[in-house]
Formats: sequence, C-alpha cells, structure tokens
Amino acid sequence: MKINIAIDGPAGAGKSSIAKEISRQFGFVYVDTGAMYRAIGLYMLRKGINPKEAEKVLPLLSEIKLSLRFSKEGQRVLLNGEDVSEEIREPQVSMAASDVSAIPGVRDFLLNLQQEMAKQNDVIMDGRDIGTVVLPNAQLKIYLTASAEERAQRRRAQLQEKGIEDSFETVLEDIKRRDYQDSHRKVAPLKPASDAQYFDTTGNTLEESVQMLSNIIKKHFNL
Ligand code: C5P
Repeated sequence: MKINIAIDGPAGAGKSSIAKEISRQFGFVYVDTGAMYRAIGLYMLRKGINPKEAEKVLPLLSEIKLSLRFSKEGQRVLLNGEDVSEEIREPQVSMAASDVSAIPGVRDFLLNLQQEMAKQNDVIMDGRDIGTVVLPNAQLKIYLTASAEERAQRRRAQLQEKGIEDSFETVLEDIKRRDYQDSHRKVAPLKPASDAQYFDTTGNTLEESVQMLSNIIKKHFNL
C-alpha cells in the first residue's frame, strides 16, 4: 500500500512550494496536477483555440501526449516530448488552464493518469480536487489556504524570480478570477474534502508551513 497525501487549495496558497520540500524530506514523488492542466491550456493557446470552448478543445486531446518526469530538481512536464515546464508558468497559461479544467472531458482525460501515479508511487499530490475526486482514499488530506492578498504577493514574487513582471493588482485580480472560476465550476470544484485538515497559512513563512506539515506526516504515518 503506497502512501498517498492529497493537498488541495486555491492558487498561491503555497501548495507546490510546501509539497516540493516535503517530497524531498520524505522521498515521496511530488505530483503537481495543476501543471497537467497548464500543459493542456498551453496546447490550446498554441493552436489558437479558445480554451473555454469544449467542442473545440475535446477533439484535440487525442493529439496530446502528456508525461511527467521526476528528477531531483523536481517535476518536469513533457507535452508531446517537449519540456514545457517553464512556459506553462506564464500568466496567460494560468487562466487557460483554469478554462480547460472546467471541461469534464479534460478532467476525465487526466484522472486516470493521476490515479495511476498514486497507485505506483508514494505521492504527495497537489491540486484542487485531489482529496475529493482523484484520491478520495488518500490516507492524509490537507487543505491549504491564505488570504487572497498574501497569495497574490507570493505569486508575484514567484513570477518575478522567473523574470515576469506584473503589478500586484493584476496578479490579485488573476488570483481572484481563478478562485471564483475554480470554486464555482460544475465538475470537481475547489472545496475541502470533508475529512481534510484545514490550514490557513496567512502570515506563515514557507519554513513554518513545511515544519507543520512535516510534523503531521511523521505522526500520521509513524515515520
Ligand atoms: O495549481 P495551478 O495554479 O498550477 O493550477 C492551474 C489551474 O489548473 C487551476 O487554476 C485550476 O483551474 C486547474 N486545476 C484543477 N484541478 C487540479 C489542479 C489544477 O482544476 N487538480
């Protein structure tokens, strides 16, 4: 039986930074499911397809081969063999990812891939519907959030590190729009699983959040 840990929450809550560090500490595979939606969003943008239009998006899914490669430096995302790990972080791809993720056929397309990874590896998997839909039997479920302003600040700093300059207002607006869209869609909306532990990380440093989760994991799995 593999260790499966689900981490859900809105954009910028710190899920991926925390999960990456935890995966290093415990030797789990870190699966960033948002990156998969981003790769599909990117594919549609490149094809000039409106990512909201299901009837245009769905027929193209058969052209997409998505794979994740895990290395010490973290997860790399391959879209038809091309490493798109950097490009999928661009702001216009974030919204395209949120758009395609509201299409049920896109979610089905990724579900099997995500579940297989969790069957074969000890994983810490982050996303929006991991505890509710993808891994309903995960042994540990965490829901992470923080105030929208703080999440926007963190996201802006991450973008700046990558050389992408956006105003605080633009990033905050993008975060709020995605939060709304992700929590109001019909399929697999963002919400805490009923058995998830809920944490607000507003005011925490990354180290504090990692320490907190690390303690929970040690206790929960007797590690
Ligand atoms: O986590 P990240 O911000 O990279 O995710 C990009 C988008 O992909 C989210 O805004 C959300 O719409 C979608 N997503 C999802 N379900 C997941 C992970 C991400 O719908 N499990």
